[in-house]
Amino acid sequence: MTYGNYRLHEMNQSQGIEYLESHGIDLFHAFDTPALAEQIGSAVPTIDLDEYPTTVLIANAGTTLWHSMKQAGMSGADPVDRYSVYLAEQYAQRFLNTEAEILYPSDYPISLREIGAKTGWSYTTPMGITIHPKFGTWYAYRALFMVKTQLPASSPLLADHPCESCTDKPCITVCPSGAVGENGSFGLETCARYRIEDHSPCAYQCLSRISCPVGTEYHYVPEQMKYHYNRSRTTMIRYFGGQSAS
Ligand code: SF4
Ligand code: SF4
Repeated sequence: MTYGNYRLHEMNQSQGIEYLESHGIDLFHAFDTPALAEQIGSAVPTIDLDEYPTTVLIANAGTTLWHSMKQAGMSGADPVDRYSVYLAEQYAQRFLNTEAEILYPSDYPISLREIGAKTGWSYTTPMGITIHPKFGTWYAYRALFMVKTQLPASSPLLADHPCESCTDKPCITVCPSGAVGENGSFGLETCARYRIEDHSPCAYQCLSRISCPVGTEYHYVPEQMKYHYNRSRTTMIRYFGGQSAS
């Protein structure tokens, strides 16, 4: 039955990926957990990593996850995070017959950026956010979780950096605050102070991000855009709202 079990496991894994895709998860990368020891080892000292041979990073692009979440009736505080965790848990339980140990979203101090860079999905942009060769900037890491099942490690995506062939670089020219600069310099504080102004055109959107020619068909719908930008703006108001510019 070894052969039969192997085939069953493979079948479940591919059905699991289909399940995630149908709910708006567009990107899936399985790591051998030891390959991430540097990134997660000290961040999760109470978890025995040897029990979890595989760590999975999932991300969404565009609007499917948003609509799926609404259809599922998910609302209240942090619905995107809670829905993403729900999908990760469902995937592990239904298709791997195990539990998902959620590392993100959580309070663990894990650098998703460092881990995401290993997937080949992410390239730096002048806007301080990353860009995917197909989805543009309209994607986001949604969950990082470990499972007790050994899955085949994914290969990194190999692609050209989208910004290298973008000669006009509209993200730099349209930014009304001048926060988006060449040479990888992004003025986070300049952007934040502009965004928290009354009636700022960037309160609930980023004009630079919208101007980017990559992945335009994956733009968020207005309600989704407002949700994400309202969250970041609230954090900016908390941090910069009472401080004068230095
Ligand atoms: S507008 Fe061009 S330079 Fe700016 S993020 Fe998009 S591809 Fe990169
Ligand atoms: S949100 Fe506005 S100010 Fe900030 S980078 Fe985007 S366009 Fe510039």
